[in-house]
Amino acid sequence: MKISVPRETHPGESRAPLTPDSLGKLVKLGAQVEIEAGLGLAAGFSDEAYLKAGAIITADRKELISGGDIVLRLRKPPVEEIAWLKQGAIHASLLDPFNEKELVQKFAEHGVSAISMEFIPRTTRAQKMDVLSSQANLGGYVAVIQAASHVNKIFPMMTTAAGTILPAKIFIIGAGVAGLQAIATAKRLGAKVTAYDTRPVVEEQVKSLGAQFLKIDLGETGQTKEGYAKALTEEQIQKQREAMKKTCGDSDIVITTAQVFGRRAPILVTNEMLDAMKPGSAVIDMAVESGGNVEGVVYDQVTERKGVKIVGVANLPARVPLHASQVYAANLVALVEEFWDKKEKTFVLKLDDEIIKGCLITHGGKIVNEKLLPKPN
Ligand code: NAD
Repeated sequence: MKISVPRETHPGESRAPLTPDSLGKLVKLGAQVEIEAGLGLAAGFSDEAYLKAGAIITADRKELISGGDIVLRLRKPPVEEIAWLKQGAIHASLLDPFNEKELVQKFAEHGVSAISMEFIPRTTRAQKMDVLSSQANLGGYVAVIQAASHVNKIFPMMTTAAGTILPAKIFIIGAGVAGLQAIATAKRLGAKVTAYDTRPVVEEQVKSLGAQFLKIDLGETGQTKEGYAKALTEEQIQKQREAMKKTCGDSDIVITTAQVFGRRAPILVTNEMLDAMKPGSAVIDMAVESGGNVEGVVYDQVTERKGVKIVGVANLPARVPLHASQVYAANLVALVEEFWDKKEKTFVLKLDDEIIKGCLITHGGKIVNEKLLPKPN
């Protein structure tokens, strides 16, 4: 079976879907793995390293993509490249399927079995394939590093001959995978951290990292069976904003990570809250790619409002591309290994398997994923 891996073409994308080590694992399974020249250069992996691991390297992208029984990528493909895929090929990458209706339709029309890595179910068995978690974890780390370079002070407390410097105060909104890593990173740097999330189960996790949990009584909030937050009502959001305004005003840094699966991120930090913050402080919006949690945030830009920096830098995991590629590739390889028939040396698309049912979005010329099909009345 041939696995083809083209280079990422999205502007600013430095991550690679496979590293030499992970490629070596696929070769060991008996797969023929062909990659596009320069695949990992931006992440720090040379073509020679891939060659050593057993790769075939080509500069002919079209031939590479059209020859693959399985095509592995990181981001969604440019729409025009879907027509290059073999009928019956398997394509696995992030696909943003709720927002990419045309792309999904094209995959179906071309008879490709498209796997959306966002849809890997959140079960214990599938944890090792969970790219959202592996990338969000690194994103949380980078958000704190970004914050450190945009705020006007240091993080730790210092007692010096010139007096005592008090620790920076950081408020983290949304304590899922990214938020918890941001808390841990900020604590390591010596900051005083407060965090908030609508899912009540998070309080214990926040406290175990040594941070304070901001309690806001919003009534019923809860989470889905996969651990995602449910969307709040307008009234709940209003109540939340009022309660958070004071903590924002009291903080040197606010990091927002709040997302609601499949929907636009909620606006949590309003202009009024920004105005309550001190000049020189900074807000990092980690939800900028799904619309942003901060009013007025500009995608992939750092802007300023009355002396407060609003950091909307996108694709934070790509700022640490070596490790981001390493963990993304490990997730992909775990998926391939799980469904690999060692005797036949092929990937078996088990349509009745819970993981495949969760993440397969097109197959046999049709859209097959229930999350993308019209809801029955
Ligand atoms: P996410 O990226 O969808 O959201 C980030 C955080 O924002 C979440 O904690 C969410 O509760 C919070 N949020 C949403 N709306 C908010 C609001 N209005 N105000 C404040 N916070 C808000 O979520 P995620 O980080 O990918 O995952 C959430 C949880 O899923 C994890 O903490 C974990 O418990 C669970 N999980 C389970 C598995 C597994 O079982 N395999 C894998 C990964 C994550």
